[in-house]
Amino acid sequence: LEIIGFIDGADNYSKPTSIIENISMLREITKKCGFKSNMIPNPNISKQPSDKYIKDAFKRPPAPYNSTIPRHPVVTIMGHVDHGKTTLLDTLRNASVAKSEFGAITQHIGAFIVVLDNGKKITFLDTPGHAAFTTIRSRGAQVTDIVVLVVAADDGVKEQTIESIRMAKNAKVPIIVAINKIDKPMADIERCKKMLQTQGGLDLEEFGGSVQVVQISALHGTNFNYLIESILTLAEILDLRSDPNPPAEGVIIESKVDSHKGKLATVLVQRGKLLNGSILVAGTAWGKVRKMMDHQSNILQEANPSDAIQIIGWKELPQAGQEFLQVSSDKRAREVIDYRLSKSIEEKQIEDSVHILSKLEEHNKEYKNHLLEKRNHRIYRRSKFSSVYQEKLLKNRKNEEKEEIRLNIVIKGDVIGSVEAILDVLETYESDQCKLDIIHFGIGNVSVTDIEYADAFQAIVYAFNVDVLKDAEESAHQSKIVIKQHNIIYKLIDDIKDEMNNSLPPIE
Ligand code: GDP
Repeated sequence: LEIIGFIDGADNYSKPTSIIENISMLREITKKCGFKSNMIPNPNISKQPSDKYIKDAFKRPPAPYNSTIPRHPVVTIMGHVDHGKTTLLDTLRNASVAKSEFGAITQHIGAFIVVLDNGKKITFLDTPGHAAFTTIRSRGAQVTDIVVLVVAADDGVKEQTIESIRMAKNAKVPIIVAINKIDKPMADIERCKKMLQTQGGLDLEEFGGSVQVVQISALHGTNFNYLIESILTLAEILDLRSDPNPPAEGVIIESKVDSHKGKLATVLVQRGKLLNGSILVAGTAWGKVRKMMDHQSNILQEANPSDAIQIIGWKELPQAGQEFLQVSSDKRAREVIDYRLSKSIEEKQIEDSVHILSKLEEHNKEYKNHLLEKRNHRIYRRSKFSSVYQEKLLKNRKNEEKEEIRLNIVIKGDVIGSVEAILDVLETYESDQCKLDIIHFGIGNVSVTDIEYADAFQAIVYAFNVDVLKDAEESAHQSKIVIKQHNIIYKLIDDIKDEMNNSLPPIE
């Protein structure tokens, strides 16, 4: 009979109960009930939520509706190649410049804002291709409120049109269709609509659905007012809002190194007010906002939700798609980054140890079969010739019925090779009287997590060619965990064998 148990609620940040504590509790219960418990290292164990909550710059939960204010929409233009996306963006961008300053030079920063006569704004993302969806969404960030799907009237629905619809639907982003190139003699608007309905699976407004369709010419700027109107109407229905209170949060849209300005990143502010001098962390990069600019190189003093701005002041270059969060000081930024770096190293180590574990299990299975075969053969031979052996067998069986003696150990090594070598040797070591249980192993210095494992399983920690971290040493001292350091493999193995012998009851 095998019982498999799961620990639930490990992601509950408000109750940072130690998972290790739960394991030791489970172990006690199973022991009392007379079950044997066998727990293998789980990669999620070391991801202690309480740890993350304290040390990482965490994202805040959504703000209540009454503390939010309306924000303008963020739009992405998608569609098949050559259907007019770039032309549409260029015309829109020029329109945004024409309203502000004659002859102003626009820069490609990954996004621009169109300000309308009535003061309303729309942010357009112009990251090349489908990057806004592929790169940014692959990192789990959602940046777009509305997708404008461009379909050339003379070409109809194509492969990338279908793909764009699929992406938008997956991301649950509503679509507005812009049937483009209506100035062309071969334009067939009705055919386009039918294709969108049948092949694209879109429920167009005029067929009783909710998807708006506008007919435009990106080249000549025909019907742009209708397109803008449709975007604003949809934005109103979506009731887009955000929390205007600091700290600021958002997503990196684009980043690059400029030979004059240094490290630049365009960010989309999604929450809070971003001010000059703010300190931001994105992934493992950080920076202090020295200068904020829009796509016309206008210097800005602040940025609000749905604003896309280019920022100068990054110490390292953040990556597109990463979320940025404002922190209180540069010291805090460094703390967060140190924590994230150490987490990524730890995750790599866990990945490695899981790999070693599965390899070990494979080896174990083969080796156990081999041993079983050998033992069966031996028993067969001896039982045939020796009646004394029968007596011995009986005695052994009686011994087996006694309570099993175990030695629990934790192994930490400097490299995968050395840990694997130790595991390989231990695998070949068999004792009928004392069972060896490797409850956890890994690469790197002995950490508090290792001591917590050892404490939960009453294990001895064996460190091969690695040090013991200061806090781990203190924790071991407090919980009376023995740490043994070696730098020669066979001496470490001998030590384990001695410990196994010591665990046995004295010979009467
Ligand atoms: P993209 O690959 O989707 O970005 O397409 P482009 O914007 O590069 O446009 C492809 C070609 O179609 C270019 O030669 C544009 O000049 C042309 N084009 C785009 N929009 C229109 C339009 O409304 N009318 C006409 N006649 N040509 C257009």
